[in-house]
Amino acid sequence: MNDTPSALAEIKQAIRNVPDFPKPGIQFKDITPLLANARLFSNTIELLCNGFKPGSVDAVVGIDARGFIFAAAVALRLGAGFVPIRKKGKLPYDCHEQDYALEYGTATIAVHTDALKPGARVILMDDLLATGGTAAAAAALVQRLGAQILEISFLIELSFLAGRKKLAGYPVRSLVVF
Ligand code: AMP
Repeated sequence: MNDTPSALAEIKQAIRNVPDFPKPGIQFKDITPLLANARLFSNTIELLCNGFKPGSVDAVVGIDARGFIFAAAVALRLGAGFVPIRKKGKLPYDCHEQDYALEYGTATIAVHTDALKPGARVILMDDLLATGGTAAAAAALVQRLGAQILEISFLIELSFLAGRKKLAGYPVRSLVVF
C-alpha cells in the first residue's frame, strides 16, 4: 500500500454521491463501492491505522452502524479490542446512554457500562463526520467510562458542516474531505 495523495484520491473517487437520499437536499456518501473493492478497502484500513503501533491501543470504539466496519478491521490490525456504541435499545446488558440533537428532535446512543476499563487507550471511529453530534455524544460515553480518547477518526469529513467544532479538545482525523 502506498500512503500517497493518489491513494487517497482513489479512495475518494470510490465513494459514490447519491443526491437526495434519504431525503431531498442530502448528498449521501455511499461507501459500498469502496468496501466492495478489496484493494481500496485494505488501503483504507491501513491508512486509518497510520500513527498507531500494534499494542498502543486497547480498544477501537465503532459507532452504529457503518463505523463498525472500519473500527473492527482496525482493531484486528492493531491487536486491540472492538467496542460497539449502538442506538438505544440494541445492547442487551446495563448501558450508559447519551442523547444528542438531530435536525428535528433527539436521538440516543448507548454503550455497555463494562465496555471499557478506566484509562483504556481508545480510538473512536465512524464512517463520516457531518455536524459532529453523533461523534460528540459517543465521545461523551467513552469519557463516562473513564477511558482515554487517543483520536477520533473518520473515513469522510463534510467540512462545510464544521463538525470538528463539536469535537474541540480531541485529536480528529479524516482521510478524505468533501
Ligand atoms: P452527524 O452527527 O451530523 O455528524 O452525522 C454523522 C452520522 O450520520 C454518521 O454516522 C454518518 O454515517 C451519518 N451521515 C450523516 N450525513 C451523511 C451523509 N451525507 N452521507 C452518509 N452518511 C451520513
